[in-house]
Amino acid sequence: MKVAIIGAGVSGLACAITLEKNGIVPDVFEQLGQSGGRVPFHGALLQLMQRPVPDPAIDLAKRYGIKITPLNLINKIVMVSPGNVAAARGWLGYSYARGASAHSLESQLYGKLTATRVRFNTMVGCEELAGDYDRVVVATGSGFFAMDRGYWSDIFRAWARGAVVEGRFDPTAMVVWFNKAYANNGYGYLGAFNAEKASLILIVSDVREEEVEFQMADVFGYGKNFLPGNREFSPGAQRRYLLSKAVWKHHFCRQRRRTFGLHAGVRHLLFYN
Ligand SMILES: Cc1cc2nc3c(=O)[nH]c(=O)nc-3n(C[C@H](O)[C@H](O)[C@H](O)COP(=O)(O)OP(=O)(O)OC[C@H]3O[C@@H](n4cnc5c(N)ncnc54)[C@H](O)[C@@H]3O)c2cc1C
Repeated sequence: MKVAIIGAGVSGLACAITLEKNGIVPDVFEQLGQSGGRVPFHGALLQLMQRPVPDPAIDLAKRYGIKITPLNLINKIVMVSPGNVAAARGWLGYSYARGASAHSLESQLYGKLTATRVRFNTMVGCEELAGDYDRVVVATGSGFFAMDRGYWSDIFRAWARGAVVEGRFDPTAMVVWFNKAYANNGYGYLGAFNAEKASLILIVSDVREEEVEFQMADVFGYGKNFLPGNREFSPGAQRRYLLSKAVWKHHFCRQRRRTFGLHAGVRHLLFYN
């Protein structure tokens, strides 16, 4: 059987490994120059999220022979809403490497492929592959394909915009902001990779994609002041902007820093979608 997989994120790679185990060698097409998908740098596995398995790291080790090493144990989640601050403390979970970095979940999965060829820098559509393959697996990380065919309906739709921020952070803490003024029914959060780098993500519900750009600009304050992107964190990025320290401090950091002491000394932002 000839199988094509569109997307070399975690879903496409896991699918390719499973096919290989069952004697099928698929062709994988990836529009970017490396595997890793949409989540750059790191993700969080939190105990409070409902999951199908008790510890995904153990499950992944068993199924795929890969080793998830926690980057940081998370022992505090601070939740901020207008007029309210609450914190959960304890053994809450851990962060781990995602995306295109050397030991990330996706890089390890990619390393487990034996015969599968991944064609990088190749953007394809399902229809154009359909004639050449018996099956086409759409693992693009987007619901639009399924939606167009009527087997997907949204219960919640949100757009995410994120940035890598440099500064001084507590790697064992996450901060989540709930504020309808800029996130509607979504939220913003900050999770540190280490004491010097963190991701800052804004998830906005019930807006059009183009509006999120303004929302992000509004909250993070980059407006007209961004500079051409720094490519240090190239994986998966569509657009990146280097933000000046002054703008960052003025619009966002000042108020958060006062409350949590987490953002002191932020140097610049690298934005990604
Ligand atoms: C900002 C952000 C933060 C997140 N944080 C977390 C987290 O902490 N923990 C967590 O579990 N999940 C997180 N997620 C969710 C995350 O998207 C999923 O966990 C996971 O990445 C989905 O994997 P996937 O393989 O389905 O899709 P993706 O990771 O999106 O991979 C799809 C791949 O398909 C490629 N592709 C798309 N279209 C084409 C095309 N036409 N031709 C060729 N290639 C194509 C893309 O380039 C991409 O590499 C986050 C998502 C975002 C956006």
